[in-house]
Amino acid sequence: MTDIKRVRDETFKKLDLNENNSGVYNGKWLEFNRNNSIESVSPIDGTFLSRISTATESDYDKTIEIISRAFVEWSETPAPSRGMIIKKISDRILEFKEDLGKIVSMEAGKVTSEGQGEIQEMVDIGYFSMGISRQIYGNTMASERPKHRLFEQYVPLGPIGIISAFNFPSAVWSWNSFLAAVVGDTSVWKPSSKVALTSVAVMKIISKVVEEESLPPIFALVNGSGKIIGDLMSGDRRLPLISFTGSVKTGKNIATKVSGRLGKTILELGGNNCAIVSEKCDMNIALKGVAFGAMATAGQRCTSTRRVVINQKIYDEFIGKLKKIYENVKIGNPLENGVLVGPLIDNDAVSNYFAAIETAKKQGGKLLYGGSKHGNGNYVLPTIIEAEEGMSITRDETFAPILYAFKYSDFEEAVRIHNDVPQGLSSTIFTNDLREEEYFLSARGSDCGIANVNTSTAGAEIGGAFGGEKDTGGGRESGSDAWKSYMRRQTVTKNFGNDVPLSQGVRFNID
Ligand code: NAD
Repeated sequence: MTDIKRVRDETFKKLDLNENNSGVYNGKWLEFNRNNSIESVSPIDGTFLSRISTATESDYDKTIEIISRAFVEWSETPAPSRGMIIKKISDRILEFKEDLGKIVSMEAGKVTSEGQGEIQEMVDIGYFSMGISRQIYGNTMASERPKHRLFEQYVPLGPIGIISAFNFPSAVWSWNSFLAAVVGDTSVWKPSSKVALTSVAVMKIISKVVEEESLPPIFALVNGSGKIIGDLMSGDRRLPLISFTGSVKTGKNIATKVSGRLGKTILELGGNNCAIVSEKCDMNIALKGVAFGAMATAGQRCTSTRRVVINQKIYDEFIGKLKKIYENVKIGNPLENGVLVGPLIDNDAVSNYFAAIETAKKQGGKLLYGGSKHGNGNYVLPTIIEAEEGMSITRDETFAPILYAFKYSDFEEAVRIHNDVPQGLSSTIFTNDLREEEYFLSARGSDCGIANVNTSTAGAEIGGAFGGEKDTGGGRESGSDAWKSYMRRQTVTKNFGNDVPLSQGVRFNID
């Protein structure tokens, strides 16, 4: 049995962490303050990890002033030089990948490969951002006026705010902050209080590079509650953009507050992701894809598979085989070899799991597998419930490993069930039929931001833009041209002639 205290002490030594850590950084670490602090406790077995001090309103205010000043210098640094800084930061993160990954596992309960994967994702987006730093371009258009040049350029936005969820305690911050940094923005990060230690571990590494390179404070960290610090950020006109990752409920509040001051948002909210399993699929691939999507991270990914719609001709065979996989999956301490399903984040998450199962049963759902705790603590059995259209619980995102299984008889019905939820993050179809595949990818098909074929709803790569539609908020982060969200577009007309000709033939004669 891996001893969490031993792993904690070993990683703390390597990462320069203590039992008491400051959770506020704005170019320097503020003093630890016990009276204003939160506790980080491992969901693995309740081991105390660390106490982290939080920002007061005045700490917050000073921090925004500091990153606003830093923006002036940073935005004037050539973009490729900014890219090289992010490369250096990514190299450094890679050096500490194993230890940082262990912190993620201890604090968020992710299995070892997922904890390490989260850190690898930071490195990947860092290198990607370095590439973007040489590709920040706009379009040039033909002007209708003589001796005029018309073009668009992208200009850094300013200091931006990042509010992140507990389930990706470091990667989501880097998706935002690294792209923001290469395009010339500075940023302030308010992580979830459930994973405050990870934010400190990450910022300790980054602050050293900032110091070595004598950079202005381009990254800041303000731990604190959503209701106080998060709310201050949403209302703060000094932050032209708030990138928010979290639940639909919180996201709607933030969107209202930020749009009330006409600020910009990137919203990455909850999902209710579905897999269609056609009778024309490769069953092994479908089984692996659905099992990973539904059980990985104990169902605590925004892209977790929460619904599966199976052709009635193969329903019994598919469910029978899926149950076998569920029976054999190892649940437990995520730092142990072979464990694939770790704990839920806290007691509330366990209660939500049971409440959803009870509601599903009351609404006519049939429990096919799971539905109970696994040993002591926050561990639950991944669960499969046979469901029918109209069960309202299947329209909610319950952040736990519960999979609702539906039967379909014709393909259009499968797509209708698939789309019949408020959220629109990730989706997939398992089929070898080209027509079904293309239907799924057409305007009548999946209504999600992510539509996959023969692979899981979960586990996106950083190269594509990531995000979802409908209640998922419409934001896009990470790859492709998501960098544009961290800049403002400016259309420029330049006259290099000796007169002032007007467009649309308008005349305004002044001698
Ligand atoms: P949450 O909404 O409870 O909290 C998210 C963040 O919002 C935290 O940092 C929290 O402190 C802060 N917050 C809370 N109230 C606030 C307020 N009034 N003003 C400003 N900030 C406030 O979400 P969670 O439980 O940490 O994370 C799980 C949710 O996040 C799930 O719904 C999941 O699907 C979603 N998520 C989405 C994506 C995506 O990319 N679409 C990625 C990861 C997680």
